[in-house]
Amino acid sequence: GKPFARSRHARLVTSAMMSVSSSPPASIEGFGDHCFKGAVAKKYLSKYGESEKLLEDPTWPRRPGKADIVAKAVLDWAVDNGASVFCHWFQPMASSGVRHGLSAQVHQTMFEFDKDGKPFFKFEGEQLLQGETDGSSYPNGGMRATHTAGGYLSIDPLSPIFLREDTIFIPAAFVSYNGDALDEKTPLHRATQKMSKEGTRLLKLMGYDVDGLINNIGLEQEIFLVPRHAFYRRPDLQFTGRTITGKQPARGQEMSDHYMAPISRATTAFDCMRQIQSECFKIGIPLKTRHREVAPNQYEFAPLFGNVISQTDQNLMVMQIIEEVASENGLAALLQEKPFSGINGSGKHNNWSIGTVDGVNLLNPKQINTASKNDAVFPVIMAALVSAIDKHGDLMRLSIASPGNDFRLGAMEAPPAVMSTYLGDDTAAAYTPSKKKLAFGAEVISDIEVPSEDRNRTSPFPYGGSRFEFRAAGSSQNVSLVNTVLNTIAAEAFSIVADRIESGEEPLKIAQDLLKQHSKVIFNGDGYDPEWPEKAVEKGIWRIDSGVEAIKKLTDAKNTDLFQKMGVLTPRECEARRTVLLEHYTATVEMEALTLIDIINQHVIPSCKKAELNFVKQLEDSVKSLKRSLHEIHISSEASDAAALARILRLDTMIKVREVCDEAESLCPPSLWSLATYSELLFLD
Ligand code: ADP
Ligand code: MG
Repeated sequence: GKPFARSRHARLVTSAMMSVSSSPPASIEGFGDHCFKGAVAKKYLSKYGESEKLLEDPTWPRRPGKADIVAKAVLDWAVDNGASVFCHWFQPMASSGVRHGLSAQVHQTMFEFDKDGKPFFKFEGEQLLQGETDGSSYPNGGMRATHTAGGYLSIDPLSPIFLREDTIFIPAAFVSYNGDALDEKTPLHRATQKMSKEGTRLLKLMGYDVDGLINNIGLEQEIFLVPRHAFYRRPDLQFTGRTITGKQPARGQEMSDHYMAPISRATTAFDCMRQIQSECFKIGIPLKTRHREVAPNQYEFAPLFGNVISQTDQNLMVMQIIEEVASENGLAALLQEKPFSGINGSGKHNNWSIGTVDGVNLLNPKQINTASKNDAVFPVIMAALVSAIDKHGDLMRLSIASPGNDFRLGAMEAPPAVMSTYLGDDTAAAYTPSKKKLAFGAEVISDIEVPSEDRNRTSPFPYGGSRFEFRAAGSSQNVSLVNTVLNTIAAEAFSIVADRIESGEEPLKIAQDLLKQHSKVIFNGDGYDPEWPEKAVEKGIWRIDSGVEAIKKLTDAKNTDLFQKMGVLTPRECEARRTVLLEHYTATVEMEALTLIDIINQHVIPSCKKAELNFVKQLEDSVKSLKRSLHEIHISSEASDAAALARILRLDTMIKVREVCDEAESLCPPSLWSLATYSELLFLD
């Protein structure tokens, strides 16, 4: 074989260490070449007498003969680009994006074999439209017995087909033989469809006829990039995505010198960032923004917003590309919400708006007033949304209850676990964001126009003039559930208002009435104020500190009724999802506790012995108590009991054990400490 020094990995590490700027620039050239829409689709469909317009109408999979044409065009495109494999690409339920977990695929050749064993290309409409997979090992919350383990895939026409390496990716939805949703995508489609239906009905009743509504989102993705050699010396990062021990370095983020700082070429991060961008551009992901974030080695990307379905899919791909490109540049990307204690964690702001299919944003008062010629539409929509947030804050909280978010919410870096909204100082009914002139006090610098309301970073769901920004979503999340919830509660609120208008009430009266009842959820103050959560509870606003408690709410009668009525999830699907989420939480904690045991036995105790530090007995006792807690979790029969115990293990026992480890680290000479330290992870470029 080849000597190690010549291997791909060694080469990459060497080039990473030399900071060779070899990655392609993030350039406009080739944007979308590997995405089957627009000009690309036009070129290949025209050979068969169709144009890219065919794909713009999402009914094409149901129109006779069209799928065969699209399949032929996709095959030609694949062959021209050296691809000869395809897959249906889907999103199993309740997965979190720490290390390759978010999407699923089985690759199949686009060719078959004749009787002499000679391959010939074959890819037809039927293969394009649907697939079947065993997939019985996916979590399904009891919805599939092993003897009815089939999972069925159907193409998602709202998310474009794309090409990576030698493979064609066909975004698809995934259900069981009985039609139960087994994925994140199916409920999102159902919720968005219902929001559109009820919203359209409401608008029509107010004299504004539209063909349908869509939900647009834009996702700000935060990540850490750390040196890969240090990552390999952290079993906790490798297995769980977060450091479970680790003494804080003397320098953290107190100088605020990382936020938006230069993305220096002295580190490989710049190479990595632009390569991520250029790979995204190739498959048509409009990743517009890149910058450094607050914490050392923390970065952020944000795309131009768009349809919730394709944006969600694209974000999953962005996360995968980030991990792959980081590894090729001698770095490790950390997507988990709280990789380091004592240092800001990572979120994924979910910017959310709804608009007509013709592009009128309902949350932009100017646009909607002009388009609808009815000044009442905006306040009615806003009042409906305020009522939805007030009633269903528990579901919003549940939708962001990932294990990693446990450590982030309410820690002055992310909004608290209290679900309020911020609308600025005007009352919502009269709310019309205006502009003001801002002067710089130096004549050569021109005045600029800014919104008259400042931003509120401390609210979990502030309104910002044309969108709500759900700031509490976690960095590793698939945001499908987040938007499934938002669109479901919006659908219900729209349907309630529409019903009331139909029964003769005046729209503006309904808006005032709703605000009177629900305006308690509007909080324009400082969400980081330590006294706020208590006050919120007094007012009757949803506050659920524990992610596990939040997940359990999925099967409260209020919520199963809501999802059932809106046609988003049956009670059975709610129950299954609750189980899967709880089991996911427990499994995460078990993995973390086992890793902590290994770290103590294989690293901390040996280091203490070498350094002749007196922590050994205490550490051995810690291992015993971790094992006892794990045992208790294993013998509890209910998923919710196990998760509740896991939460105590994680937020109490493990944190106490960590303190011992971190104290030992603080006294141990670096040469005898075998784990990579926070300094190595965060300050070694
Ligand atoms: P910040 O919130 O940090 O100021 P930006 O203004 O760049 O960041 O916006 C963040 C994200 O919000 C981007 O992805 C952007 O495309 C998206 N966004 C902007 N307007 C809307 C909208 N009307 N609906 C949904 N997303 C939007
Ligand atoms: Mg933002």
